[in-house]
Amino acid sequence: MAEQQGELAPAIETSVMKRTLLFILLTVTLARADRVSSILGCTHNLKAIATALEMYSSDHGGNYPVGLYVLIPKYLKEIPACPAAHRDTYSGSWRVAGSEGFYLFCMGKNHGDFGLKVHEPTYSARHGLGPFAMVKQVNAIEDKMNGRKPVDRCMQNLKNVATALEMYSTDNSGRYPTSLKGLTPNYLRDMPECLDKDPYVYSMKVRPDSFLVHCPGRNHVKDGSPANFPSYDSQKGLSRE
Ligand SMILES: [Zn+2]
Ligand SMILES: [Zn+2]
Repeated sequence: MAEQQGELAPAIETSVMKRTLLFILLTVTLARADRVSSILGCTHNLKAIATALEMYSSDHGGNYPVGLYVLIPKYLKEIPACPAAHRDTYSGSWRVAGSEGFYLFCMGKNHGDFGLKVHEPTYSARHGLGPFAMVKQVNAIEDKMNGRKPVDRCMQNLKNVATALEMYSTDNSGRYPTSLKGLTPNYLRDMPECLDKDPYVYSMKVRPDSFLVHCPGRNHVKDGSPANFPSYDSQKGLSRE
């Protein structure tokens, strides 16, 4: 009997330790999952409200409502709650703001655990979601969840840069900027980079005006793409593999 107890005691101790360890690991993982799902939920809320505002505006001669409550129930079922704050943090932030079109944010400091400051994340009609560092993180998380490859994001980036270049050209008698720096912040709030580290390479010509922008190096070779792929040519559009 005594022998049995002697053997049993360390076994119990080990299992308690294992359980405690498992509990700590789970808590850490869940806390991280919670933080991530809170920021995804909050950015989705901002996008949903923005979509409703745009729908309202196109039905009302380009005007925005005096308050978000006006959107209910025709354009939005209800004002959503921020998953971190457990309440509507958006209605109080709503403002129509000149060149930005409109401006919205999650009021208070609800996402400090995701590295955000007070009154972030933000959404402006002109620039979409912000801040840029968070958008990059959120995009990376969503890409992973949806099984999107980095090259898909890179192609989207190039399309956005090309759209900004065309907007610039329209405003500047058909000329493209001499460098991509000419696009920020008026045509693009922030310049995207491939995998958040490699700047895109840009060249332009005048008479006839054209541009070429590409992802430099071998960032997508391991996904089966050639070097310096993808690229966007003002004449041919986005390169195909
Ligand atoms: Zn929030
Ligand atoms: Zn790339």
